[in-house]
Amino acid sequence: MIVRPDIKPVKDLFQPDFDTPSVYNLSKEDLINLMTEWGEDRYRGSQVFEWLYSHRVDDFDEMKNLPKSLREKLQAHYSIEPLETLVKQESVDGTMKFLFKLRDGYTIETVLMRHDYGNSVCVTTQVGCRIGCSFCASTLGGLKRNLEAGEIVSQVVQIQKALDETDERVSSIVIMGIGEPFENYNPMMQFIRIVNHDDGLNIGARHITVSTSGIVPRIYDFADEDIQINFAVSLHAPTDEQRSRLMPVNRAYDIEKLMHSLRYYQQQTGRRISFEYGLFGGVNDRKEDALKLAELIEDLKCHVNLIPVNHVPERNYVRTKRDDIFDFLETLNHQGINATVRREQGTDIDAACGQLRAKESKEETGS
Ligand code: SAH
Repeated sequence: MIVRPDIKPVKDLFQPDFDTPSVYNLSKEDLINLMTEWGEDRYRGSQVFEWLYSHRVDDFDEMKNLPKSLREKLQAHYSIEPLETLVKQESVDGTMKFLFKLRDGYTIETVLMRHDYGNSVCVTTQVGCRIGCSFCASTLGGLKRNLEAGEIVSQVVQIQKALDETDERVSSIVIMGIGEPFENYNPMMQFIRIVNHDDGLNIGARHITVSTSGIVPRIYDFADEDIQINFAVSLHAPTDEQRSRLMPVNRAYDIEKLMHSLRYYQQQTGRRISFEYGLFGGVNDRKEDALKLAELIEDLKCHVNLIPVNHVPERNYVRTKRDDIFDFLETLNHQGINATVRREQGTDIDAACGQLRAKESKEETGS
């Protein structure tokens, strides 16, 4: 029996504080509660939810079956402004990258990936990131602020609206864009509840994946949630020495602490864990690394996603050669570890893992 240790909890920092928060912050239950608080009938909450997620309107005035006074009240208290699309780029493989402007001028990137099994959106949870991984572009400018739940939801709504034109739907979500989702934990969980709701976008929990760099106290929290979403951990190295060099977060939560939290997660949920392992030439891609990795995770029900390092101009990691990638894979497989090499998408538009960045700050745009 693995026991949850008594460790210092982490808080969600850098929350925005808008006078009129996004209406997309509210779950269906929140909307129903709001209506009862305002002395309205409960069903008004369901109507608003339907306008937002089935009809996907972006103006309270379009919510035709609501009394004008209620539409005005909503307008006065909440913002429905969707994100402003500044740039939409399409890759030769169909991957699309969206640059969105937030209400306070910051910009974030969101990616739509096309697979034969459906359309997947890679959402951003923070403006920038403060984790400081030495290979990643998202962390270069530090963290400006967390996103509201509604700003994460809006990314999916906006992309769904783009897909509406061709009668397609968003079928899965990966919480793997800019930022560390476990440093914006409560809004992230709220986001999941909203997009998961079957009267709304109805994205099944099993089609949602969250990835963390290893914020251990939040892994315990996540293990105790009653939700069936997929869980990925950016591991990238089998020893503390290597991992701390690649990911400074390892100095706060080392591999032993991380593994304990993952064993607890597996005990609580019974679910498989995905490990992301970027192959950085000469750093963590030798046979002995593969053997150590296999030994480290052998007691977990898991899968390893090998990611050939993506080029980030400010970073000078080199890619492991193709043959060596497959040798690494074979070593893992031979040790009984389930592993695959991640298929790359959107590299020509800098939309691949680790290439996303918060483009410019509020000050720089002057808005
Ligand atoms: N902060 C979360 C979510 C980001 S997911 C996390 O760290 O898990 C994006 C994945 O891409 C992570 O596994 C990240 O470590 C990886 N990544 C970052 N930069 C990369 C690069 N240059 N090449 C390949 N993968 C990279």
